Amino acid sequence: MEYVSTRDKSRRVSAAAAIAAGIAPDGGLYCPVTFPKLTVDDWHAMARMDYKGRAAHILGKFLTDFSAGELADFAAKAYADEKFGCSNTAPLVELAGGKYMLELWHGPTCAFKDMALQILPHLLTASLRKINETRTACILVATSGDTGKAALDGFHDVDGTKIMVYYPENGVSPMQKLQMTTQEGANVEVVAIRGNFDDAQSAVKRIFTDSETRAALDRDGMMLSSANSINWGRLAPQIAYYVSAYCDMLCRGDIKHGDRINICVPTGNFGNILAAYIAKQMGLPIHKLICASNRNNVLTDFFRNNGLYDKNRDFYTTSSPSMDILISSNLERLLFYASGQDDSAVAALMDKLRGEGRYQVAADIFANIAADFDAGCCDDALTTETIKTLWEQERYLCDTHTAVAVRVYEDYRVRTGDTTPTMIASTASPFKFCRAVIEAIGGTLERDDVSQLDVLTRLTGLAAPAPLAALAGKAPRFGRVVDKEDILSTVSLLREL
Ligand SMILES: *Cc1c(COP(=O)(O)O)cnc(C)c1O
Repeated sequence: MEYVSTRDKSRRVSAAAAIAAGIAPDGGLYCPVTFPKLTVDDWHAMARMDYKGRAAHILGKFLTDFSAGELADFAAKAYADEKFGCSNTAPLVELAGGKYMLELWHGPTCAFKDMALQILPHLLTASLRKINETRTACILVATSGDTGKAALDGFHDVDGTKIMVYYPENGVSPMQKLQMTTQEGANVEVVAIRGNFDDAQSAVKRIFTDSETRAALDRDGMMLSSANSINWGRLAPQIAYYVSAYCDMLCRGDIKHGDRINICVPTGNFGNILAAYIAKQMGLPIHKLICASNRNNVLTDFFRNNGLYDKNRDFYTTSSPSMDILISSNLERLLFYASGQDDSAVAALMDKLRGEGRYQVAADIFANIAADFDAGCCDDALTTETIKTLWEQERYLCDTHTAVAVRVYEDYRVRTGDTTPTMIASTASPFKFCRAVIEAIGGTLERDDVSQLDVLTRLTGLAAPAPLAALAGKAPRFGRVVDKEDILSTVSLLREL
């Protein structure tokens, strides 16, 4: 399997080269040139496998320069039972009205980012070996909360890597901050920025493009790499859980082979829902992919306004912060495929986005997108109402991001009358967004955020995830705060790790 950039498909690279680089030299995103198809034999084989086996099986179709043995070993380590609390890595919970909650948050940091970031360190270090890269990979991460902790947890004490995370000093929840600042490991550094998430992200981009910095790191035997969802190594593992969940539905007799399902995903950077789109291209029988957004509904407008993407609008801070984003990077990959891999068309659209903050997709390309997708959005008040209703009527507790998807799906069902069974991606533990969840179900907040875990347990009878409960009394290791202008100077901290 070969990979090309969305903006220039003339140069083909291996999966290992795509994963090691993270992003293509022309600024485009690496994409597989074809989609492997799932055969009857694949379905038979996967029916007998656990999650680890299925994940290795799906990865093997895309990462053809990795051996089956390597991938099985990586999946066994990444999805080890003790890391996910049980052997059911991604449980599927059936609720009323044909809703199936795909719980992707049983990993060590309690958000779905673990599903990819537990295996990415294995894929990345193996990729470096395969391309004979001997320098230490320095992974820089800008985060609004979930990615930072998941990347720290995945990469801490991994040989041949160092990881540095930048978060906005006042832009993450107290729980997310504590998760990051108490991170253990000899190769990790966490820095708070005086500024917002966009400042943190632009600062990291500045480091990536600063040739002097890169040369200095090279002299010290270091190179830069990325752990966000522009890296193909983060997307590929996400395809596996949609296929695996369909296997679960088959094995339980919920559906027959070939029956169609919908998949509804709470969306920010468009990575998680793009993985479902790729699963569909492989032959997973998906009727509609439903894209759910919060009040930052730039994607809802894109799908409803015939492919007009316009980020020139107010940015809102919502109760689902991991979806507060106006530039959904992975939409670029969808445009690449929907245009029949027209790299120059994609490059032109991305140029427009950079210059004018908006672009219009051609009618024939948009027609290909419209056939696969539906979209909707939901504000904070409706998010709260959805958490409350789901808890009171079905005794199912969900976090704010998941609630956005549940609400958008329910609206979709009423609007279209479509009763196809629908998988809803449940992306974070409700305990990770305690405050909003407690307020939604009518509890009283306490001052300290770790104590909120007990409040939610008392209200619901549900146990808090062990990794969050373990934060109680942990002392922060990292307290450095820098002005956004001084970020470049923090790169020297990598030398001391
Ligand atoms: C990252 C995140 C999302 C958005 O996922 P994308 O792949 O960026 O679309 C949704 N929910 C939670 C809890 C997240 O951490």
